Amino acid sequence: MARRKKIYEGKAKILYEGPEPGTIVQYFKDDATAFNAQKKAVIEGKGVLNNRLSEFFMTGLAAIGVPTHFIKRLNMREQLVRQVEIIPLEVIVRNFAAGSMAKRLGMEEGTQLPRPIVEFSYKNDALGDPLVPEEYIVAFGWASQQDLDDIVAIALRVNDFLSGVMHGVGIRLVDFKIEIGRIWDNDYMRLVVADEISPDSCRLWDIETGQKLDKDVFRQDLGNLTDAYTEVARRLGVLPSNVTHAHKPKLIN
Ligand code: UDP
Repeated sequence: MARRKKIYEGKAKILYEGPEPGTIVQYFKDDATAFNAQKKAVIEGKGVLNNRLSEFFMTGLAAIGVPTHFIKRLNMREQLVRQVEIIPLEVIVRNFAAGSMAKRLGMEEGTQLPRPIVEFSYKNDALGDPLVPEEYIVAFGWASQQDLDDIVAIALRVNDFLSGVMHGVGIRLVDFKIEIGRIWDNDYMRLVVADEISPDSCRLWDIETGQKLDKDVFRQDLGNLTDAYTEVARRLGVLPSNVTHAHKPKLIN
């Protein structure tokens, strides 16, 4: 493979310069991190699954009119995306109490919230991505009030889409995180869903059994993470072709 210019290496992905100006190649690694990278492991197959799952969610969102950075999947581990200016916020939507919210408010994990709640963390690993109120975001100029209103609207549409898709395959969408990017066309700015949507950034529980099918399996040592993500991909019908075809009979002409 020809060498490409690496733009950025994060915890789970590497970004390379894309073939056209304004494009980027996102490479999904097998690395898993948790607790602000204090816990690390290489989980074989995770990158391939997340590449497929993120493609599935991003194309589904585009199909219902939610703009995303996704252009096309290139191969098992890479996808072509639009280059965006990432807004330094983690946009979190919660349907049920879990994780940091359950801890902060002393709520039992799994308590249904009165309505979906959108919250923001400031993306800064050194500070541990602290929760920030909207007023900070506007005052510090990370986003305008209009941007924030648009981001909340996008986040709630993503929530409705993901909740519905997951419900259809017997999975509860407890919460998730998205990142939003800006794309500039001359003076005109559009907000799009960027980064990735995968079980790395969602909490997914089996509706019947409550079994966790997301990164908490790694965070809490609950079992094999690839098996959990494979189960999500299998239910959604998006297993990589070499896996789905493994047990299929061959047509003989
Ligand atoms: N999340 C994420 N990246 C982060 C922090 C959170 O993808 O850096 C996701 C997490 O997987 C969960 C949701 O955002 O689906 C809410 O996470 P929470 O605030 O409860 O934090 P956590 O308990 O994961 O530290």
